[in-house]
Amino acid sequence: MARKLAVIGAGLMGSGIAQVSAAAGWDVVLRDVTDEALARGRGAIEASYGKFVGKERMTADEADAALARITPTTDLGAAADADIVVEAVFERLDVKLGIFRDLDTLVGPGTVLASNTSAIPITKIAAGTSHPERVVGTHFFSPVPMMALCELVRGHKTSDETLATAREFAESIGKTCVVVNRDVAGFVTTRLITALVVEAARLHESGVATAEDIDLACRLGFGHTMGPLATADLTGVDILLHAAENIYTETQDEKFAPPELMRRMVDAGDIGRKSGQGFYEH
Ligand code: NAD
Repeated sequence: MARKLAVIGAGLMGSGIAQVSAAAGWDVVLRDVTDEALARGRGAIEASYGKFVGKERMTADEADAALARITPTTDLGAAADADIVVEAVFERLDVKLGIFRDLDTLVGPGTVLASNTSAIPITKIAAGTSHPERVVGTHFFSPVPMMALCELVRGHKTSDETLATAREFAESIGKTCVVVNRDVAGFVTTRLITALVVEAARLHESGVATAEDIDLACRLGFGHTMGPLATADLTGVDILLHAAENIYTETQDEKFAPPELMRRMVDAGDIGRKSGQGFYEH
């Protein structure tokens, strides 16, 4: 029997998680607050399946069957009998807490509750529930159908069983997991990229090297596909500044203290590809 997944939030990440899970055989309930958001999410999934069919990575029949396994709904109650729930709504603690509180009373004792948060401590989300041991972080990467990584985050009270179920789920949809054993700010991935971007911005700010040369050094010297400053432009200088501030606030570790240059860039609206100007002109 197919297993059942509920995805809460049909935005960029939620629809991506629903898409790969349905393609892997899961029955998926996709929940959002409005029909418009659900229609957008379903449209994105359909378009993405279409691209896979065009590239002959799945057949049209497989795409139709996968799409039929996704049930969009505005009713959170539809998540009640899910084996695992993955929350992917706005990155706001109050919104996530509300959802986890509702889910806590709705689902059975065996259901794992996962959050796709990129920065909020899993322990904070879990603390709003009566069973924090069944709450875990499943941090997928964008675009979900293309990116192989899932960072599994153990909250302060997450049980081994919960972590194992989350791993089994992520692997069943073709992802490779890394485990974050302590619920630290920025987990592993955001911590690493933030440290690299902050130092790269400092080197650039102090005139040690140009943005182009810093990125070239990382690409040719370390085999990185993309240099840190190009990555900052792609992700958004504002998003990385926010990540650096969060991690710095939690750790007081100077290596995460964002350089003034990043603040001034954000003040000026030079946030990267989204605005046409960041460390590079786009
Ligand atoms: P998004 O803005 O594209 O989508 C969020 C969706 O949540 C929207 O459709 C919104 O209508 C819906 N929503 C809001 N409140 C809801 C509720 N109570 N019930 C159901 N749905 C609700 O956001 P996103 O980029 O998909 O990010 C989702 C989560 O994933 C965030 O926690 C984010 O930090 C994390 N994340 C994002 C990325 C990324 O690259 N965008 C990568 C990794 C993790």
